[in-house]
Amino acid sequence: MRWASAILFAALAAAQTRQVALTFDDAPRGGDSPSGRQLTATLTLTQELIRQLDQIPATIFANPGQARELSEEGVDQILRLWHDSGFTLGNHTFSHADLNKIPLAEYQAEILRAEPALRRGRGGAPSRYFRHTFLRTGSNGEIRDALTAFLTEHKLIAAPVTMDGSDWLFARVYATWARATADPAGFRRRYLDYLDQQISYAEQAALALFQRPIAHILLLHVNQLNADSMPDLLALLARRGYSVIALEQALRDAAYQSRDDYAGPEGLSWLRRWAYTRSIPLPPEPVEPADILSAYRKQR
Ligand SMILES: [Zn+2]
Repeated sequence: MRWASAILFAALAAAQTRQVALTFDDAPRGGDSPSGRQLTATLTLTQELIRQLDQIPATIFANPGQARELSEEGVDQILRLWHDSGFTLGNHTFSHADLNKIPLAEYQAEILRAEPALRRGRGGAPSRYFRHTFLRTGSNGEIRDALTAFLTEHKLIAAPVTMDGSDWLFARVYATWARATADPAGFRRRYLDYLDQQISYAEQAALALFQRPIAHILLLHVNQLNADSMPDLLALLARRGYSVIALEQALRDAAYQSRDDYAGPEGLSWLRRWAYTRSIPLPPEPVEPADILSAYRKQR
C-alpha cells in the first residue's frame, strides 16, 4: 500500500506541476454578431471576460485599428480596462494584417502603428510581447528572418502557441447555430471536448519532443463563446492538473529556446515547428467536428 500511495502522490505532484499560460487575441472585440461591433457590446464582453478571469494571469493581444466601428476613445477605454484590471497587453498589429498578403515593410509598419494606442492603454509603457497574426511568421526564410530581426530591434518578444482549440471557428458558429438549435450549453460542451483533445495532443507532442511536460501557451480569442465557457474551461484545465501562469513565466521554459527552422505560409503551432526542425514525426492534429466545420464554411 505504501508503494501504491507513494506512486499516487508522485503522479498527483507531477499532474499539479502542469502549467499553461492563457493568451487572448484580437481585442478589442464584442462578439461575432454585427451588433457585437459596437462599443456597448465590446465593453460588456470585455467586462464579462475580466470578471471570469478574476486573479488569473492572461496576456491580451490587441489590434487597436481592427474594430473600425469603435472610435479611438472607445478603443482606448477597452485597452485601459484590460490593463487596469491587471492583464498584460501585447501587440497583434494595428488592423490584424496578414503577413502572407502584404509586403514585410507594410507588416512592420502595422506593428509600429499599433503602439501608440497600446502605450496609452498601459499608461505609456511600450509592448513587450508580439503575437503573429494567423500565427504566420513569413512565407520564406528571408521574410521570417527579417521579421525576427525587426522584433528584436524593437524589443518585442514573439509569443509562441502550443495549444489551440480553434475557438475562433467554434465562436463564429456559436453566434448563430447553437442559438438556432436552442442548445448553447451542448455546443459549449462540444467546444470544450475538442479543446480537451487538443490539450491531450499538445501534451503528447511535447513528450515526443522534450521527453517531459512543458509549460504550454494556449491560444484563445476575445469572443462570446469564451466568455460563456470560461468557468468550465478553467475547470477543465484544473481537472487536467494545470495551474495558470503568466506568459513571462511560461517563456522561461527551456522549450522556448528551441530552434525553429520552419519557413512557409502555414500558421503552425510551435510544437509542429520544432518537430519540423528536428524531423520528429507528429501525428496529425485532431480535426474539428465535421458538422461544425461545415456550418462555419457556410457562414463565410
Ligand atoms: Zn488574431
